[in-house]
Amino acid sequence: MHNSPNSLAFNDGWQYAPAPESTDHISLEKQFDLFIGGKFVAPEEGRYFETINPATEEQIASVGLATQTDVDRAVKAARKAFAGPWSKMKAAERGKYIYRIARMLQERSREFAVIESLDGGKPIRESRDIDIPLAAAHFFYYAGWADKLEYAFPGRNVAALGVAGQIIPWNFPLLMAAWKIAPALACGNTVVLKPAESTPLTALKLAEIVQEAGLPPGVVNIVTGAGETGAAIVNHADVDKVAFTGSTEVGRIIQRALAGTSKKYTLELGGKAANIIFADAAIDQAVEGIVNGIFFNQGHVCCAGSRLFVQESAVDEVVRKLKDRMETLIIGDPLDKNTDIGAINSAGQLETIESYLSLGREEGAEMYQSSCAVPERGYWCRPTIFTGVSQSNRIVQEEIFGPVLAIQTFRTLEEGLSKANNTPYGLSGGVWTDKGAKIFKMTQKLRAGVVWANTFNKFDPTSPFGGYKESGVGREGGLHGLDAYLKLEAR
Ligand code: ADP
Repeated sequence: MHNSPNSLAFNDGWQYAPAPESTDHISLEKQFDLFIGGKFVAPEEGRYFETINPATEEQIASVGLATQTDVDRAVKAARKAFAGPWSKMKAAERGKYIYRIARMLQERSREFAVIESLDGGKPIRESRDIDIPLAAAHFFYYAGWADKLEYAFPGRNVAALGVAGQIIPWNFPLLMAAWKIAPALACGNTVVLKPAESTPLTALKLAEIVQEAGLPPGVVNIVTGAGETGAAIVNHADVDKVAFTGSTEVGRIIQRALAGTSKKYTLELGGKAANIIFADAAIDQAVEGIVNGIFFNQGHVCCAGSRLFVQESAVDEVVRKLKDRMETLIIGDPLDKNTDIGAINSAGQLETIESYLSLGREEGAEMYQSSCAVPERGYWCRPTIFTGVSQSNRIVQEEIFGPVLAIQTFRTLEEGLSKANNTPYGLSGGVWTDKGAKIFKMTQKLRAGVVWANTFNKFDPTSPFGGYKESGVGREGGLHGLDAYLKLEAR
């Protein structure tokens, strides 16, 4: 039996020595106010809520609860900055401020990585190597566009939209803030951003950088709170654009609220990505891709490869190798550099995942979990696979947002394709084969915004991201991401 979080299936007795990242170099206030008009200000009603460390269930800090009045203050500050210095500033100057944010983020990257892992539960390896560098890369990339917008859209006049209201989820807190803020500023807009209630800290630390970088007050405002604060942003009459990333359920509420208004919007919603493995694929590499697609980051990724389709002749080998690999995954302290799988983000999310685990068994699927021990305190879920599932099962159709994989088989390319497309979502997908022709056929016919070939979950600021069907409206990233923050008119 494996009774330590670090035990290795193939060599019992071996353990990695703990390698915790130090927290000495970070300074975290015990209480955070709202960031409005370039200053940290107390929420109008003086109410605060707690943000906790999901790996220890300990309180990290309390954070201001923004009411409708606070949101109104933030929108007014954003409007004033838009009408004043920001829209009058030369585009190249605007770009310099965005570059400055990017550089300051890089300088403080260790601090941001630790705070991200403390507040959200993700392994430090991921926050250090993916979240923070990619967030800085987004600011660098869009800074470059600030004075080149007319070249991005030749023959058209480009103009900023005004005030952008932006609402983001808890799975990539800083990265999602960068995805939203960087293109908005590059295009000359000002913003009011609300981070998720369970992971507000890196957005508030980003506010410190915005302040230090000397951006004109009101260009970036950060308000914290839950759904009601988000709704106050969406419904504010002086917001010109709403950018939302989160659940399909809340996306629907927002789309309904915006129907009939002149507000522009982008919605990046749920997913149920298919990872499709042909028998001719490099199987070891594909197994690594499955693990990366659904188990790293606790499956807290809207583009997670949560449905696996394996060509029938390869399924035994894939499942056997996958189980072996699952046994080697280290689950535990997010701040330990050896950790592969961190904490589930919140008690509520763990409950949701566990209800799907029961549901999967009730639906008749066979469940397998790795045998690793998990810490006593905190929110944890072992990597889990379900076999013997059918297309109509809820664990196959619905987004679980946890380290839970449903495995099915197919015989022909057409069968794989039609099974993969049989979903209300269409955010991403993956294809594993050594035949280029198959890759092209699949990528053309998969109804998904992003399809990775022989890899998974790779991101770059230059490539657009967004979904089909219930996965959303509009694109973020790359040139497409500029379009979402501009009025384009014929010359
Ligand atoms: P998740 O299930 O990933 O937590 P949600 O869609 O519930 O996703 O949350 C994503 C973001 O949307 C969070 O910042 C949350 O506070 C915010 N939010 C929740 N409800 C609403 C709402 N009715 N209007 C606007 N924002 C909301």
